[in-house]
Amino acid sequence: MKWTSSYRMLPRMFYQDVLPSVAKDPSFVLWNESLAEQLQLTDWHDETGLLKLSGAQLDDCWEPLAQAYMGHQFGHLTMLGDGRAILLGELETERGVVDLQLKGSGQTPFSRRGDGRAGLGPMLREYVMSEALFYLNISTTRSLAVIETGETVWRERPHRGALVVRVASSHLRVGTFQYAYHYGTSEDVKALADYAIQKHYPHVDNAENRYISLFREVMKRQAALIAKWQAVGFIHGVMNTDNMTISGETIDYGPCAFMNQYDLDTVFSSIDVQGRYAYGRQPQIGGWNLARFVETLLPLFGEGEEGLEIAQRELNAYGSLFEHYWLEEMRKKLALHEGEEALLDELFVCMRREQRDWTETFRDLTVENEECLQLECSKEMKDWYVKWKQTTEGREQELQKMQEVNPAFIPRNHLVDQAIERMELTNDRTLLERLLRFSREPFAYTEEQLAYRLPEEEKTRMHQTFC
Ligand code: AMP
Ligand code: MG
Ligand code: MG
Repeated sequence: MKWTSSYRMLPRMFYQDVLPSVAKDPSFVLWNESLAEQLQLTDWHDETGLLKLSGAQLDDCWEPLAQAYMGHQFGHLTMLGDGRAILLGELETERGVVDLQLKGSGQTPFSRRGDGRAGLGPMLREYVMSEALFYLNISTTRSLAVIETGETVWRERPHRGALVVRVASSHLRVGTFQYAYHYGTSEDVKALADYAIQKHYPHVDNAENRYISLFREVMKRQAALIAKWQAVGFIHGVMNTDNMTISGETIDYGPCAFMNQYDLDTVFSSIDVQGRYAYGRQPQIGGWNLARFVETLLPLFGEGEEGLEIAQRELNAYGSLFEHYWLEEMRKKLALHEGEEALLDELFVCMRREQRDWTETFRDLTVENEECLQLECSKEMKDWYVKWKQTTEGREQELQKMQEVNPAFIPRNHLVDQAIERMELTNDRTLLERLLRFSREPFAYTEEQLAYRLPEEEKTRMHQTFC
């Protein structure tokens, strides 16, 4: 096993040395065997592995640290940093180097007023949701394990304490660049940008203007990522700039959820009272975050007006870039070709008016469940269906492929809540295991998955998720 600490090549301002707290009475709650296989860490699912991952017996090769970063939180720029996370080390794997990070492992110099801890519920949620996104083919950080610490964490009431072992290609964020820009010199921004290129975009290393290329690459990944979220109805919940990675991986599963009924205004987070991060606003917020990113690169683009012009020009490409990726996703969902997008808009109008469930609508169209469409169908929906059938006639292969992009199952918020609550309160893990099993084969179209319909009472119930 080979560990490195490339992050330490960055200037000293980017991190603080800090050791994870030692968990009082640790135990594994979840262990991700298939991820462990990829990382060649399968033998860590034992007492020694547990001691390593819960702070008691650190690996000699690790040089743990907390990363410094800033972030626009709901529009306000704040100094943040890993307040409850610690990077243990970077592991060289067959598929590249990955960060192994503990989240919920105690206070750091960046904890501000926080306790550095996490509750079992939110860590289970991170595990389930990141698994779900991964198996939906959406770029994401992963969870190797959830470990109960044996300690009590207070969040209005006592909770069982836990940590998640997070795996990511890096934890560089837009907020890391904001920190370099606001607290460092242009040399610090340059060091960070060079590091990001080397780590994530080595192919632009020799580009004529490598920093413009870096921005373009990040923009592409972000646009593609958000397009995929939209396509499966995923709502991140807290798209602050510190929660947007440079690698384009989904990170920080707080109050995230999948949308039920199609409604652009859907919000799940209890703290997002203004709807800043509502489903329909995610693409726009992606652009806003990229604007904050490009600002930090200005010193690398050139002095004064010239740099500004470049930044503006590059950023202007975001709208059509996002549209491109989004249409690509949406066409696949309905086996449509270019120029047939009117069908999409017409479907959205029907779905909105009839308060149709996002996932079920596409799933039913995928299995050509005509009967089920007919039953509760308005005239508009029937007309749309006929038109869609005519348009896609003879496209057998493409219609078949709809099964590869329209999930038959997603971990709906009430299912996640039930599974977590059952586990937290009674240690009964049946619901959790089942949820994970289903989430790991979202495109299986098993009879069990197809039989599932969102219960009537869940259609209108508003779930709020606390981080
Ligand atoms: P988030 O909203 O999850 O992205 O977190 C924003 C910032 O708050 C990050 O810098 C976290 O490290 C920090 N944070 C969140 N929860 C805690 C906690 N319990 N203790 C200390 N810092 C925390
Ligand atoms: Mg965060
Ligand atoms: Mg968080």
